[in-house]
Amino acid sequence: MPDCLFCGIASGDIPAKTVRESSRAIAFRDINAQAPTHVLVIPRQHYPNVAALAAAGDGLLDEVAALADEVARDEGVAGSGYRVVFNTGPDAGQTVHHVHAHVLGGRPLEWPPG
Ligand code: AMP
Ligand code: ZN
Repeated sequence: MPDCLFCGIASGDIPAKTVRESSRAIAFRDINAQAPTHVLVIPRQHYPNVAALAAAGDGLLDEVAALADEVARDEGVAGSGYRVVFNTGPDAGQTVHHVHAHVLGGRPLEWPPG
């Protein structure tokens, strides 16, 4: 997808602090971290949001979720707790329209979120 920031990160054209990779997904640190652990997990292939990724139905959403879990364990937050968030659409504040899971942890996370 031309002009997609996260396609650029997936291809290596745009630098990112990658923490983990799988064959079809990549995890990298959010540039504006909201918690001690704030990692984004994306499929390498472009889907605009989690609904489109789920509709693809080829196990890729499973792979993104599995990579999020691996990141949480790597970061040492799997025991203390963490949150996985797919912001979807304007009311959720989605700004990058390449589906991404936020993995947040390392501090108590407010609920409900703001
Ligand atoms: P969202 O509001 O769910 O679309 O989240 C987009 C996220 O991408 C925000 O948390 C941004 O801080 C993050 N972000 C934007 N540009 C970059 C970048 N170049 N590298 C890493 N994270 C980024
Ligand atoms: Zn993209």
